[in-house]
Amino acid sequence: MTGKAYLVGSGPGGLGLLTMRAREVIDRADVILYDQLPGEEILATLPGSAELIDCGKYGGSHTLEQHEIEALMVEKVKAGKTVVRLKGGDPFLFGRGGEEIEVLREHGIRVEVVPGITSAIAVPEMVGIPVTHRKYASQVTFITGHEDPTKPESALDWEVLSRLKGTLVILMGVKNLPAIAEALTAHGKDPETPVAIIERGLRPDQRVTVGTLADITGKARAAGVRPPAVIVIGGVVELYEEFAE
Ligand code: SAH
Repeated sequence: MTGKAYLVGSGPGGLGLLTMRAREVIDRADVILYDQLPGEEILATLPGSAELIDCGKYGGSHTLEQHEIEALMVEKVKAGKTVVRLKGGDPFLFGRGGEEIEVLREHGIRVEVVPGITSAIAVPEMVGIPVTHRKYASQVTFITGHEDPTKPESALDWEVLSRLKGTLVILMGVKNLPAIAEALTAHGKDPETPVAIIERGLRPDQRVTVGTLADITGKARAAGVRPPAVIVIGGVVELYEEFAE
């Protein structure tokens, strides 16, 4: 008898935003493969009865490669275990959940997806920045900042992105922020477009840095901005100032 796999989103951090379905499957799991992104508060509640596998620090040191994570999940399910793959936010937004489900299905494994509240919406929202707003933005685009805009083979079309009128939300974008700001302005986006960087959203040490496309690179450098952070570009960022005391 083979077991079952669950691809579970933890939400952006904090027990309050973990869904009841996520809690239920976590508490029943035989094996939990987790990343650090769900955050200390949630990771501290993983059941001691389950085999806990830290994909960031497997066996004490090495980070599991994506194919190793997938192979471990397959192996554990085939051994009859109920396996939870716990990821930050929502498993299908830049979470490689799509790749994992493909591999599991290739092996004929039953998979249930448990959606999570994505950091892309919740992290800005919790500091008063709505990703859409009737007055400021009628569309929102989620972008991975992992792609270096200076590379010709980039999967992203920065010319098109610079022309969009709505909000741009960039995940994993801290390292490439200078190149991203540069690419957007080089393609004609207004350098005065407001930008907010929210580091460690919903954690006790959350921090927000606000600027414009023209000065955000300098401000981020001066502040020592580090991942994980959500970057929001667009008029909605003005609402942060309004909400701030
Ligand atoms: N699937 C996740 C995103 C995974 S990509 C989701 O839906 O939220 C990882 C990126 O998510 C990080 O580099 C960062 O950009 C963002 N992120 C996730 N949680 C965050 C948090 N609590 N605060 C700030 N950024 C966060």
